[in-house]
Amino acid sequence: MTHARGRIRPAGPLTVLLAALAALATGLASAAGADSDADVARLVDHDLAGLVTYYKALHAAPELSRQEAQTSAQLAAELRAAGYEVIDHIGRYPAPAHKGYGLVGVLRNGPGPTLLIRADMDALPVLEKTGLPYASTKRTKNDAGVEVPVMHACGHDIHVTSLIGVARVMAKLKDRWSGTLVLLGQPAEETIDGAAAMLRDGLYERIPKPDVALALHDMSMTPTGTIGLTPGFALATSTQMDVLVRGVGGHGSKPEDAKDPVVLAANIIMQLQTVVAREISPFDQAVLTVGTIHGGTKRNIIPDEVKLELNLRSYKEEVRQHMIDAVARISRAAALGAGMPEDRLPVVSVIEDEYAPALRNDPALTARLRPVFERALGADNVREVPPEMGSEDFGRFGLDGKIPVLMFWVGGVTAETLAEAKRTGIPVPSNHSPLFAPVPEPTIRTAIVAMSAAALELLHK
Ligand SMILES: [Zn+2]
Ligand SMILES: [Zn+2]
Repeated sequence: MTHARGRIRPAGPLTVLLAALAALATGLASAAGADSDADVARLVDHDLAGLVTYYKALHAAPELSRQEAQTSAQLAAELRAAGYEVIDHIGRYPAPAHKGYGLVGVLRNGPGPTLLIRADMDALPVLEKTGLPYASTKRTKNDAGVEVPVMHACGHDIHVTSLIGVARVMAKLKDRWSGTLVLLGQPAEETIDGAAAMLRDGLYERIPKPDVALALHDMSMTPTGTIGLTPGFALATSTQMDVLVRGVGGHGSKPEDAKDPVVLAANIIMQLQTVVAREISPFDQAVLTVGTIHGGTKRNIIPDEVKLELNLRSYKEEVRQHMIDAVARISRAAALGAGMPEDRLPVVSVIEDEYAPALRNDPALTARLRPVFERALGADNVREVPPEMGSEDFGRFGLDGKIPVLMFWVGGVTAETLAEAKRTGIPVPSNHSPLFAPVPEPTIRTAIVAMSAAALELLHK
């Protein structure tokens, strides 16, 4: 580390005057910010009852990933009603059967930067067990044509409702900012392919390309009224791999005539445990999970193949690449060691469509917005939270670090519920649980207040 060795000069009259002017400017800016905060709070409180009604209706009518037709159409109507120019049906998936329900609402309001704010819209195949009066009882067909229950178990309905709230606040406070606001409804976050589908469909050629992108996510680890910030890496890359372990089938009583892929698969699985433990630096985070193993039909048959499905997580791209290479190397070497011929070595593949990049919150952007959030919500209500190895595809909108992005967490359960969980040791139901139940009013309110304050800061005149 180096230290600047500047000369310390006594403060002359000009320096004092400049410092006074700077302090005055800062004071004026923060007074203007406080005024805007008060206006935002007033607008949100005026709108909140209606938004909560909207939220409950949306919660009761969830749609699975790539099936967000109604959610998208309703959001488009709300954005139009708030004065935004809407482009809908954005999204091209590799499978032509999947329709793109992504949309954007654009509000052009003079010169200045372009800010993108994303809300994801999809729900999960989970049977809701919250017992809430507005609980989902909906069932629908998944991609495979199988009927499944559907629930907004990740709170994306909170995100959609909050985006509508932000849309209205920013439209009503148009005289306070200058620039272009792009509000984006993203499909298929849970399947990690919605952001990519929108970009593949020419999103950034069809709308003003953003200078900054923001998103929020509700969660059950911090109380309502608070938000959580994670500067730098916040969520991991997620990579799906398949390893098809091939053998030579035969009778269970005659191993000498076969090459047993079950034993080979077991060997590969155990060796894969050494990748993170022995090949990755302890200063880099990584996870390698063999999530499924399928092979064989009967106890006295040696099958001729076993399929492994893997999930890899890391923050750094080089760590991800190392793990992918290691899976291929270990699988091949184990098969050669078992005497498999070259033409029966394991088939190792990466499922590119299901890849999510890491989410790295831009540190400078996070530092700029932290005091803005503290002013709008109270200093005690802005907390730093540790990174997670979960994944999100919001990072895609940042084009591999070219556009600074920030996703912040919004607390969704009451302080009393959290205190009770601490006392009993029974954790609060988290996202994806059939019992996940963010408290609507304070969660939506905090989400809109925080996001509007951030937007007014980033687009301020
Ligand atoms: Zn989720
Ligand atoms: Zn989610």
